[in-house]
Amino acid sequence: MANASKKLFIKTWGCQMNVYDSNRMSDILSALGYKTVDTPEGADMMILNTCHIREKATDKVFSELGRLRVHKEEKIAKGGNMVIAVAGCVAQAEGEFILERAPYVDMVFGPQTYHELPEMVIKASNNERVINTEFPIISKFDHLPDQHTIEGSAAYLSIQEGCDKFCTFCVVPYTRGGEYSRTAQEIIDEAHRLVDQGAKEIMLLGQNVNAFHGVASDGSIWGLAELIRNISEINGLERIRYSTSHPRDMDDDLIDVHGEVQKLMPFLHLPVQSGSDKILEAMNRKHKAEKYLDVIAKLRKARSDIAFSSDYIIGFPGETEQDFEDSLNLARKVGYASCYSFKYSARPGTPAANLQAALVPDHIASERLKRFQALINEQQAAFNKTCEGKTMPILFDRKGKKQGQVCGRSPYSQSVYVTGNDRLIGNIIDVKITEAFDNSLTGDVVTQDDLL
Ligand code: SF4
Repeated sequence: MANASKKLFIKTWGCQMNVYDSNRMSDILSALGYKTVDTPEGADMMILNTCHIREKATDKVFSELGRLRVHKEEKIAKGGNMVIAVAGCVAQAEGEFILERAPYVDMVFGPQTYHELPEMVIKASNNERVINTEFPIISKFDHLPDQHTIEGSAAYLSIQEGCDKFCTFCVVPYTRGGEYSRTAQEIIDEAHRLVDQGAKEIMLLGQNVNAFHGVASDGSIWGLAELIRNISEINGLERIRYSTSHPRDMDDDLIDVHGEVQKLMPFLHLPVQSGSDKILEAMNRKHKAEKYLDVIAKLRKARSDIAFSSDYIIGFPGETEQDFEDSLNLARKVGYASCYSFKYSARPGTPAANLQAALVPDHIASERLKRFQALINEQQAAFNKTCEGKTMPILFDRKGKKQGQVCGRSPYSQSVYVTGNDRLIGNIIDVKITEAFDNSLTGDVVTQDDLL
């Protein structure tokens, strides 16, 4: 029988897909007697679930490993042992190198292999070092347990993985492999289980989620729109979101579903990366800025209260002041509720990493980023201001920072703070927004006397 006292510590970097993967690893390992803990002290196994998207990803992994090594040595000095594992996209890209440079690491495995964790753990427990960076993607979702870790009342559900787009700055097609969609039935079954476990909101996840094309029970192929229509029929599920989308895969059916399905939240993260057609081409995004605006306009027509967020890369190789102005102008035309923007930095192994000669000097890229973020901050504050006086349904998911305060998410994913009882947590309650700040809102619960 499994020893129920083993402690598992997972540190997760990066996107929501990594959070989903970490939760699923925890589900798998709980069957082996591992209980997930919040701190590395005394853990029997530590997993770093890594992300290769941001700058100096590998360096960050090695510096974290240095800290974990101390915990491992302390444990060994006391006669115990600790398995250290590196998972995720850095593991996929740097597998051999990690084992070579960090001899105290026991396991390195890529994002498509964590369903094989039980076998890997047995090997590592027998002092065999494990490296597993294959792409056996078909079997991964077939071998995950039905039990799910969900935090609060909002759950992630991975429906698609990998990407065939090969944007020139991005490592995902190399670390996560080609596009793969789970079957519609598998996803619907998982959505039911999540709702049975208390999820009121489900975020459908994929590296390129709107490229989803899953086989349905009758052999037909469903796109994301059809999947959303079906999931929205689950009783008890109140909110649906999806991320991350590519403008090229926003087809008319998916746009229509935003008008049809009220459970689909009126907030869409639609990365564009640049407002300059020249830079979009160099990024291999395969669409023009005009096409993006066209999609935004159609979505607004389908659902008038929809708001948008996006990703922009500032200072991509070859970006001139005019190209940057085009990005500013595109952002002005859209008017975002929020937006992520990053200064370009090369990812080893990507085509853009070879564009050394066209690199934008760092001080220019930094100055542009500052200007871009000033615009976005203004837009976000203006959007938040439009919420004042409105009544919005808020899904409460955590305690606030102050005593007697609880916090939840608006349909637009804004943090909303109210004074109220912890019993609000897990419920969707109407809140009248009283004040907007740059990054959050405050309000008063409208009526729910039994929960106040
Ligand atoms: S579509 Fe997204 S995941 Fe795919 S290569 Fe481009 S940026 Fe990366």
